[in-house]
Amino acid sequence: MLNIDLHCHSTYSDGALTPAELAARASERGVKTWALTDHDELDGLAEARHAAELHGMTFIDGVEISVSWRKHTLHIVGLKIDPTYPPLVAGLQQVRSGRGARAQKMADELAKVGIRGVLEGAYRFTTNPNMIGRTHFARHLVESGQCKDVKSVFNRYLAQGKPGYVPHQWAALPDAIGWIKGSGGIAVLAHPGRYMVGRQSMGSKTMRELLAEFVELGGGALEVVTGSHTPEQYAEFARYAQEFGLSCSCGSDFHGPKESYRDMGRLPDLPLGCRPVWADWETSSVLKAA
Ligand code: AMP
Ligand code: MN
Ligand code: MN
Ligand code: MN
Repeated sequence: MLNIDLHCHSTYSDGALTPAELAARASERGVKTWALTDHDELDGLAEARHAAELHGMTFIDGVEISVSWRKHTLHIVGLKIDPTYPPLVAGLQQVRSGRGARAQKMADELAKVGIRGVLEGAYRFTTNPNMIGRTHFARHLVESGQCKDVKSVFNRYLAQGKPGYVPHQWAALPDAIGWIKGSGGIAVLAHPGRYMVGRQSMGSKTMRELLAEFVELGGGALEVVTGSHTPEQYAEFARYAQEFGLSCSCGSDFHGPKESYRDMGRLPDLPLGCRPVWADWETSSVLKAA
């Protein structure tokens, strides 16, 4: 089994561990090829690469870009990106820039339902205040005893339709894919089973429209195996990948101990018939490490 984990978060976005701590954890759990994919942020990559090399892992530069598409927020992972590519750097700077005002609005909305003082509390959970996000609010509400865990904060307050949810305009899909591809990377549609309309996933008609557009724009892969997919969803999205000629990726989407569906390096193999996203990479390094 190839132990490859191509999706996780550090303290540079909304993960609980530093890049060096993640590298140690991945290596302990047998990961051989590892990508750090912080939300809208590249600054953790140098530290992650250095730590990965100390542990003898192959490191892949990654990012997870927040995108608004129709009424959905999508996440597009970029793998093998060049973190110095100016349009990518500038584009992400622009995406991050709205987070402060959004956080203020979230705090205002939460105050209306009687939850006060959350903005300061949430900022205390950031290491990189430019990347303030819903997870930091959730951690604060758990720590202050207002909810039992991060999941229940989302269900009660932060998911779409809940009192603290503030709609936000993220990057446009063509821009996000363009920055990734322009930097030499591969665009991956992250956790496709998580794009919900209310309590239902987006539906096959919309999913097919999205995938057609994604392919047309140069998207390269679908994240088939991810911490939040069920085994049925692995099979479902493996079929979509085949139908649309996309490669397949896998990653834990690890955010921190006790907060994640799956730990790093604890993912099943891709379903049979999937073309792995790493198939065209310098096989020497990925397969040698594996
Ligand atoms: P943001 O970019 O600030 O909207 O935050 C998005 C992040 O919130 C995701 O990357 C997840 O880490 C987290 N998140 C979203 N929905 C949930 C949920 N239902 N349960 C736990 N965490 C979630
Ligand atoms: Mn996250
Ligand atoms: Mn995501
Ligand atoms: Mn993620």
